[in-house]
Amino acid sequence: MPRVNTVLGPIPTEELGLVAVHEHIGYGMPGSELDTRWWKSPEERYDETVPKLRQFHEYGGGTFVDATGICNGRDVNYYQSLSEKTGVHIVASTGFVGGDTALPFFARASVDYLAAHFIHEITVGIGTTGGRAGIIKVGVSRGGRMTDLDKRIYRAAAKAALATGVPVLTHLAIDAENAIAIFTEEGLPLDRVLFGHVDDGVNADKTRDTWIADQGGRIGFDTFGYETELPDPPFWARPRRQRLEHFLRFIGEGRLHQVLASADANCSPLGWPGVKGHTVNYIFEDLIPDLRAAGLDEAAITTIFVDNPASFLSITN
Ligand SMILES: [Zn+2]
Repeated sequence: MPRVNTVLGPIPTEELGLVAVHEHIGYGMPGSELDTRWWKSPEERYDETVPKLRQFHEYGGGTFVDATGICNGRDVNYYQSLSEKTGVHIVASTGFVGGDTALPFFARASVDYLAAHFIHEITVGIGTTGGRAGIIKVGVSRGGRMTDLDKRIYRAAAKAALATGVPVLTHLAIDAENAIAIFTEEGLPLDRVLFGHVDDGVNADKTRDTWIADQGGRIGFDTFGYETELPDPPFWARPRRQRLEHFLRFIGEGRLHQVLASADANCSPLGWPGVKGHTVNYIFEDLIPDLRAAGLDEAAITTIFVDNPASFLSITN
């Protein structure tokens, strides 16, 4: 039976329900946990996070994929407790958001060492938590081109994905020719890869989303809600209408089965103020109503938020 690793153990794929496929319980740069000004007490973190997850569950949300990876504040014991208290399935990541947030110990590691580490986190568990990773995170470092370290991480991720059947999720879909070359060399089918952030305000113009889709990759419109209309829009914000039209145009070209959508929000950001007014619940409060208003039927909405993530997240071996 197809299954997915959650922090509380594997579950049958059909229990995932509606999935927010690229989110964060709390993302911070490596070292933020050492900063007395920025580190949050357990009370603050629960206070900021539990109401958002409860609301997600009440709206009909089933599964929250935490795309945080190693070194950026991932905390699996905490995720296990949040999942038990709110009833939301939480999927944790192995891998790295990008080479530029891998601490030196990992930055110097070989492809084989990194692959073995990812496989351990997927098949045995993350640290002593017993929670197994359900996805492998990789990404392009700041600067817009893949670094040598990024490439090693992508190659290790491809090896780990093939060995375990767990899929790969990328931060940024720029420089996709290099990424696809690595995945293809390793023999990883591209429907096991979600190329993320094709919709963000910085990279949307540079990302060859239709080309990636033509190669067979899955496409992540996963920064919904980072809008220029927010009171404090981040630099990667984009006008709401423009992003929505991009998404509708893309699926209107016959690519409904290749898209995944999410909000990439932080429940409780670590070491930075976060973006006020933006949460995972944008999916229910704004995005799904916008899609209905644009004429999408319930079957299409189920495809985007239930069927496509189920197919993507299911362990294939
Ligand atoms: Zn993210």
